[in-house]
Amino acid sequence: MRLLVVEDEVKLAAYVKRGLEADGHAVDVAHDGEEGLWFARNQPYDVIILDIMLPRRNGYQVCADLRAEGNWTPVLMLTAKDGEYDIAEALDTGADDYLTKPFSFVVLSARIRALARRGNSARPAVLAVGDLKLDPAAHTCERAGEPIALTPKEFSLLEYLMRHPGEVLSKMDILNAVWDWTFEGDSNVVEVYIGYLRKKIDAPFGRTSIETVRGVGYRIVPDGGKRA
Ligand code: CA
Repeated sequence: MRLLVVEDEVKLAAYVKRGLEADGHAVDVAHDGEEGLWFARNQPYDVIILDIMLPRRNGYQVCADLRAEGNWTPVLMLTAKDGEYDIAEALDTGADDYLTKPFSFVVLSARIRALARRGNSARPAVLAVGDLKLDPAAHTCERAGEPIALTPKEFSLLEYLMRHPGEVLSKMDILNAVWDWTFEGDSNVVEVYIGYLRKKIDAPFGRTSIETVRGVGYRIVPDGGKRA
């Protein structure tokens, strides 16, 4: 694999590079955020190992910039602190995983392999289907820039639909994904909640983005226009 290590602690960067090269990987090292961005923009990597506290541009900013530019190379964040806040922020800015220093090289190596399996397809932190946007971290929803208030269950249902845009999801799929195992009601609850969602995300905007596929299930589509 081709890997990028962005780490300002020169000794640690050299240690990681040596270890990864011994595993047979090709490893480039950058010692600050700007340099890291330059490498990430100009070379293809399978995984980027990105420290958070970096000179010139911190790891959060580097990761956010890459994602904003449509670069979805898996990112493993390194954090010196183990505060939950840092980890949550790292993951919310588009990182895929994190390791707290000091870390075991064996674990680093295994995490890199796991991340490489994800590939570099888009994994946006904010979901968008047309002008409908859902931010699972901030727990906000908006259409055409207008905020929409959703209950937790409506939010989960919409998130599930938006994670599978254009895909027909059966009531059973939806029930299994959004309701827990102990749920004993019947699957009409799905219809009921689809109705609630339509009243909030579609009707006020003159859209029909949640489509019913007769006898099969539901799907969310980007245009959300009226269909014959
Ligand atoms: Ca650092």
